[in-house]
Amino acid sequence: MQSQQSINCITPPATIGILGGGQLGQMFAIKAREMGYKIVIFEPDHNAPARYFANHHIIAPYDCRKSLDEFVQLSDVITTEFENVPAESLNYLAQLKPTYPNYKAIQICQNRLKEKEFFGKTKIPTVKYYPINNKDDIDKVPANIFPTILKTSTLGYDGKGQIKIKTKEQLYKSFDLLKNVSCILEQQINLSSEVSVLVCRNAYETIVYGITENIHKNGILDISIAPAKICNKLATTVQDYAIRIIENLNFIGVLAIEFFVSNTNEILANEMAPRPHNSYHHTIESCYTSQFEQHIRAICNLKLGDSTLHTKAIMINLLGDIYEDNKHPNWNKVLTKFNNIKLHLYGKNIAKIGRKMGHLTLTGNHIDDLIEEANQIKELLNIN
Ligand code: ADP
Ligand code: MG
Repeated sequence: MQSQQSINCITPPATIGILGGGQLGQMFAIKAREMGYKIVIFEPDHNAPARYFANHHIIAPYDCRKSLDEFVQLSDVITTEFENVPAESLNYLAQLKPTYPNYKAIQICQNRLKEKEFFGKTKIPTVKYYPINNKDDIDKVPANIFPTILKTSTLGYDGKGQIKIKTKEQLYKSFDLLKNVSCILEQQINLSSEVSVLVCRNAYETIVYGITENIHKNGILDISIAPAKICNKLATTVQDYAIRIIENLNFIGVLAIEFFVSNTNEILANEMAPRPHNSYHHTIESCYTSQFEQHIRAICNLKLGDSTLHTKAIMINLLGDIYEDNKHPNWNKVLTKFNNIKLHLYGKNIAKIGRKMGHLTLTGNHIDDLIEEANQIKELLNIN
């Protein structure tokens, strides 16, 4: 750890380079610009949401050396808004400019199997699981583990690359259906709830946020509730796990970790995201320091901000499902009715089923009132 006297920090108007230009990059860029930093995004898509907020947009594939060199030239510090950046590119960048989070941590977060092994090594409980790389691995799976979920080890998100499986016969078929790629078979457990935690670290301190409760529909986050309705003891356990994880990974930046709460009140680590997370979008309105500002503070090695939740909040995800023929829903129905909601749209041109187009944050003093309001909003916007 660095001593406070010799803190080496990156201050405005330095340029922050972001790999990726989706909604996370967009919200990150908005905050960074507000703080006086300049932003360069490296993102192959011309229409990426973050483009309007970047000073510079490098449009190239993530493995284009020439463009990576240009990116390095323009950036004082580099970060990423997604975990699936090609390993070689990340390694290359890290040799030339301060790049956070570190490559080793990202590699663990890219792969469900590595993630679970890491949780095991750091003595954090998970569901029972088996690596599935070939038919022999399936033969070895005990009969009493079903029901299960087969998940591809890499590249899955929002419930994609997952199949629910009740029998071994189905397992053989499903592994074929997933094209025999490296998978993990997890015992499917009865959940009492799902929660997440956000933790952040710079070169000399670690800060943890309060716990958020998450409700998923069809494998995609539907709403997040802050604070989560879990007892103090469980909340403290989750926060202690988060601190242990971030320190073990020697991680700089914000890290989100999803947990299951089983119906016997066991806390089981599910997966991690080495970046700001959908379940902490509410921090823009609800906390003294949003997850985006905290990430900037961490990678620039500024003093971390207060993570206290100053108001209760619910976040509702707005998916492409509520856009008919690519037309926006009638926002009027909610924007003229409630004084405590904030709409965030990501500027995506094409709405698709399951695609995250934006989110709404509701703030107030009583969670039960916010839940009632969230239900009204969902009805008005036709969110099923
Ligand atoms: P993703 O990367 O798609 O978010 P997750 O592993 O978090 O992948 O799975 C998505 C959702 O599916 C979880 O939030 C949870 O609701 C459900 N789920 C996943 N794994 C299990 C499991 N082992 N037991 C019960 N439910 C699960
Ligand atoms: Mg998840």
